[in-house]
Amino acid sequence: MTAAQSSFARRRLLLAAGGALLLPRARHALATGPQLRVVVLGAGWGGLAAARAVRSHLPTAEVVVVDRGARFFSLPLSTAWLIGRQDAALLDHDLAEVARRGGFRFVRAEVLSADRTRRVVATAAGDLRYDWLVVAPGIREDRLPWVDGDPEAAEGLRREHSAGIADSESARALKTRLSAFSGGELVVSIAGGPARCPPAPYERVLALAWWFTQRRLKARITVIDEGGGIAGFREAFDDHYPKMIRFMPRTHIRRVDPSSRHIVTDFDELPFDEALLAGPQRAGALAGMLGLLAPQAEGRDGHWAAVDPLTLRSRADECVFVVGDAVGEVSPLFGHFPKTGHMAARHGAIAAAAIAAAARNRVFEPTLPDSVCFVHHSIEPPELTRIEMRYRIRGDGEIVQEMDQRRINQPRGEDRAWAGGMFRDALGLL
Ligand SMILES: Cc1cc2nc3c(=O)[nH]c(=O)nc-3n(C[C@H](O)[C@H](O)[C@H](O)COP(=O)(O)OP(=O)(O)OC[C@H]3O[C@@H](n4cnc5c(N)ncnc54)[C@H](O)[C@@H]3O)c2cc1C
Repeated sequence: MTAAQSSFARRRLLLAAGGALLLPRARHALATGPQLRVVVLGAGWGGLAAARAVRSHLPTAEVVVVDRGARFFSLPLSTAWLIGRQDAALLDHDLAEVARRGGFRFVRAEVLSADRTRRVVATAAGDLRYDWLVVAPGIREDRLPWVDGDPEAAEGLRREHSAGIADSESARALKTRLSAFSGGELVVSIAGGPARCPPAPYERVLALAWWFTQRRLKARITVIDEGGGIAGFREAFDDHYPKMIRFMPRTHIRRVDPSSRHIVTDFDELPFDEALLAGPQRAGALAGMLGLLAPQAEGRDGHWAAVDPLTLRSRADECVFVVGDAVGEVSPLFGHFPKTGHMAARHGAIAAAAIAAAARNRVFEPTLPDSVCFVHHSIEPPELTRIEMRYRIRGDGEIVQEMDQRRINQPRGEDRAWAGGMFRDALGLL
């Protein structure tokens, strides 16, 4: 066991025994006061929740949130929005206005790099000094292997054929493309894990099949899945759309040629009229640029940020916290926390509490996160499933994950009520 691992094990055991953590104060931590500055990179679910919670724990600190986009747009409920069954108003929020109401500063800019020794972040709008940094960059998708490693071609694929799951820009572009789709061959690819909200792509396939039927489009949807699929959804594909949906499990994309509109898989060459191509997911590029990824060793893939699971503190830098989907393996029992907005918001709150404790040199009493996700198995008649993940610390100090999955008969907007609650209480959007 390395020194770092044994210190981690000691802290987990302390927690298991009902103890609290005294986090090491950052070497240069300033006393709380007007000059303390917490910078949050990314204004998605994790970043906004962190900003809101820091504001409430440290009322005199300056909180600055940086994002390349001017608006928050929720991917949860975006499938209903894509098929015209959810108004954009609930999902779409002006970040400058959210910041004004929440009492933090919003800087719209691309984050370019950071000098962690000087604690300065470089953005396209200028440099920002920080005392504490929260990094919440979400995910990126790696399409390079499909285009012989050509970055320009991969960027072209992202622009023209994304599945609309990595960011709001691609979700908006997907809506425009789908509105223009007049039928034919649609290919949807589903990447292997770890992945953002794993049931979401299957729910989307069913929603599209329903929508195409309503619009009387002659379309066939071919699903290329790196994994084996999810049983409930495979049954729904077969039961409701046996002629429209063709499911190809355990199939890898080898190459994509956007000009001839062909996809080469392990077994086939598939032509397409439209394609929603989700590449293998990685932590948002920012995590790599800031040197926060786990080393590629001991079975780790090195694509995700290395953090302390109880505090979300980066293993590379005690002044830096990483929250949300970018977080890597946290448990030998279950691997990653689920990559959901709910979980990202809980991470933001945990990191904020840890920062407040460290800034004040107080004991930190960690709380474990939870996650809730809603998925539709059918649009009409509506069938909804609620998936909840809960965590506890086992006697030996390991975090244990428990799942509670329930079908909701005759749903009445439970998913919207959940989203509204999160938007109001955790993110401060409403
Ligand atoms: C179709 C679909 C349905 C889903 N349904 C659910 C659900 O029901 N429940 C649920 O809890 N979750 C759901 N999710 C998952 C949820 O959307 C994600 O888990 C959540 O968005 C992760 O939050 P995050 O803060 O880690 O990343 P994000 O929300 O993606 O935020 C990252 C932010 O960082 C910014 N950023 C990144 N790099 C830079 C840079 N270099 N400079 C400036 N800004 C940068 C981005 O612009 C973005 O705003 C769903 C996802 C999808 C795709």
